[in-house]
Amino acid sequence: MPGGNTRTVLHFEPFPFRVVGADGAILHDADGHRYIDLLGNYTAGFLGHAPAPVREAVERVLRDGWSIGAAQAGEVELAELICAKFASIEQVRFTNSGTEANVYAIAAALHHTRRQGVLVFEGGYHGGVLSFGHGSSPINVPHSFVIGTYNDMAALEELFAGDRGQQIGCAVVEPMLGSAGCIPATDEFLQRLRKLCSLHSVVLIFDEVMTSRLAPGGAQQLVGVTPDMTTLGKYIGGGFSFGAFGGTREIMSVFGGGSRNDAPLAHAGTFNNNPVSMAAGVAALREVITDHAVTSVNARGDACRDALSAVFAEAGIPMCVSGRGSMIGVHGCAGPVRTLDAASASDDRWKELYFFAMLEHGYYLAPRGFIALSLEVTDVMLDGFVAATQGWAEEMATIL
Ligand code: PMP
Repeated sequence: MPGGNTRTVLHFEPFPFRVVGADGAILHDADGHRYIDLLGNYTAGFLGHAPAPVREAVERVLRDGWSIGAAQAGEVELAELICAKFASIEQVRFTNSGTEANVYAIAAALHHTRRQGVLVFEGGYHGGVLSFGHGSSPINVPHSFVIGTYNDMAALEELFAGDRGQQIGCAVVEPMLGSAGCIPATDEFLQRLRKLCSLHSVVLIFDEVMTSRLAPGGAQQLVGVTPDMTTLGKYIGGGFSFGAFGGTREIMSVFGGGSRNDAPLAHAGTFNNNPVSMAAGVAALREVITDHAVTSVNARGDACRDALSAVFAEAGIPMCVSGRGSMIGVHGCAGPVRTLDAASASDDRWKELYFFAMLEHGYYLAPRGFIALSLEVTDVMLDGFVAATQGWAEEMATIL
């Protein structure tokens, strides 16, 4: 494997630890170390490493057979559960990843509107080939992207001024920038974007691949804004490969089932309805991701963020936290971080020091300062983590 790995984000210098097993919230590495997993597989591990209802559902699939090129019951059941859960999804289709879900959602929206422009926002991450961390990426899919500024109300108006709105087929936005450092959109920004998209007949797509965990009905429920389409991924497949895109019946009918005159688009994918992900998703949504579980883990995240924030402020070191609910961003600047510009002021050496110090104490978060709590992380674990952070922050304050 070039660079010795097959998922860029998991590599760090001098070399990452290798996991050989997991139990509960604990990861065990090949050298016999144990870590409390606060990264939760970048949000895909929301349920933990091996939740029992998902394991049992998958065991049933393994008993009954799994490489099946035919329609199955699991996909229908999962589709019904997802449509019931997210206000914007009347119909849904499955993919193998969040990236693919966004690629298909954009294609569907452009076909529906017969336009070419794709509005995205700087800092947005919608997959390896739809990445806008610092402008566009050389490996992005070749759409006519218009890159807006997240949370900037005046710039938002400009994007739709004159006949510009008529060129845009769809707008894709994360309700909270995840990869760019857990920066929530303001309610005002999403509300105005919704309004402008409606006025100009632009399909509004919420990328809720990460943020759907923030409330039982996703971030769209939290902010009270309903997009035309939503993309999903990560934990919804119970921890197995998963992606989904859905939206209004009218837009989704580009794939068939509606009263359109044009031929339906093909939506291919050998593993779209793979029975393991379908069964795992059904078990996850029915038995594990209850409204109560979602609400509690997000409350735990809010409390942890407040505690970390107080620790950094009291120690007087230039670090701060951002995010919402169970998703926490740690930054190497005094903050507050509410915009991408503010996050860019971070001195990443602070994050690196913090990352390695926490590893040494047995806590695993992302080197970039990202924490995504799973349902298995307890208050006691977080108390230990906050105490370890406090000890480290006080030590750092003495050498500043
Ligand atoms: N959208 C968002 C908001 C994401 O965070 C990610 C993954 N980090 C993706 C899309 C892509 O999902 P996947 O890695 O499953 O392709």
